[in-house]
Amino acid sequence: MIFLDAAATTPVRREVLEAMWPYLTGEFGNPSSHHSLGESAAAALAGARASVARALGCRPGELTFTSGGTEADNLAIKGIALARQAADPRLKRILISAIEHPAVEESARYLERFHGFTVDVAPVDGTGLVTPEAFAGCLHPGTAVASVMYANNEVGTVQPVAALAALAHGLDIPFHTDAVQAAGWLPLDTKALGVDAMSISGHKLGAPKGCGVLFVRSRTRLEPLLHGGGQERGRRSGTENVAAAVGLATALTMAKAGQPERSGHVAALRDGFIAAVLAGVPGAVRTGHCSERLPSVASFCFPGTSGESVLLDLERQGVVCSSGSACAAGSDAPSPVLTAMGFPDAVAQTAVRFSFDATVTAGDLATAAEAVARAVAGVRSLGSA
Ligand code: PLP
Repeated sequence: MIFLDAAATTPVRREVLEAMWPYLTGEFGNPSSHHSLGESAAAALAGARASVARALGCRPGELTFTSGGTEADNLAIKGIALARQAADPRLKRILISAIEHPAVEESARYLERFHGFTVDVAPVDGTGLVTPEAFAGCLHPGTAVASVMYANNEVGTVQPVAALAALAHGLDIPFHTDAVQAAGWLPLDTKALGVDAMSISGHKLGAPKGCGVLFVRSRTRLEPLLHGGGQERGRRSGTENVAAAVGLATALTMAKAGQPERSGHVAALRDGFIAAVLAGVPGAVRTGHCSERLPSVASFCFPGTSGESVLLDLERQGVVCSSGSACAAGSDAPSPVLTAMGFPDAVAQTAVRFSFDATVTAGDLATAAEAVARAVAGVRSLGSA
């Protein structure tokens, strides 16, 4: 099998599992306990937090471990908006982009339904880019929080996050970015990016599913969503998943090491794959930006097919990929990301995403490109029969 769906999830890396193992077995203490087992768990958690802080260029106290990217996004959007509204009731708006992951979009919609906020949506251009001009036009003195993802999970477009954050700061608006797909491929230094909050998920990086982290800059107010024993400095109650935190820290540290070289290497393979698919499939359209894109994502529309049929054919040929995001898998509805980019519904329904991890090879991608040409031709011939 050639696995080209790494944006959906990745296997746990051996080094990550080995780092976690002690905290799942002998060192199983609760970090809040005052005996030696508890103290050693608390030390492991503190060590993990310090490693993540080094990877993200922030202070350990600015990090909250969560159950994944979805929880980190919920905590950022709801937690910042509710805290700011409590301090100043005139702050009643939330600004997101038109191509956010549902974890951000639905958090904003929840605030609209139950807390009287209005959601403003910054449009994207045909490449999936939120231009600074479009973003600036949607900022408002009453915006409580703005959120634009670092890199899109369906088409891989990378946003000018530092420029957008600076525009938000011009109106004293905190800026959050969902960096779940960017992690491992793009620089994650929170100071250089200028963001006030940033979400990361473990399972895109070789850590297990169900762990993540939210960075929130120290001067940013945050209302907790989970109430209880006051763990994570009161920001996220619940006994901490020590092993997962250690795993996430190990994966992030490994991802940071050699990142520019790895990204350059995979981007070159990606470009070769895109060229091979465009050459082999008449009418194929690359989606997303030509250069501002994740090294790990190649995405297309194949007019005259259905994305789901192409996927099934590819899987029969041993190539596993996805029609867009894993969250929308199995649905024939056109991708909201592609429709926001201006693709007609009938074309958006033909989307296929290939996403790589660092182990991908030129040989795998050459084989996959040939399989894509066969799959699309086969589906088209069935359609016209
Ligand atoms: N944000 C983006 C951009 C994603 O791609 C994903 C997962 O696919 C998430 C958030 C949610 O992360 P998790 O699966 O850890 O909840």
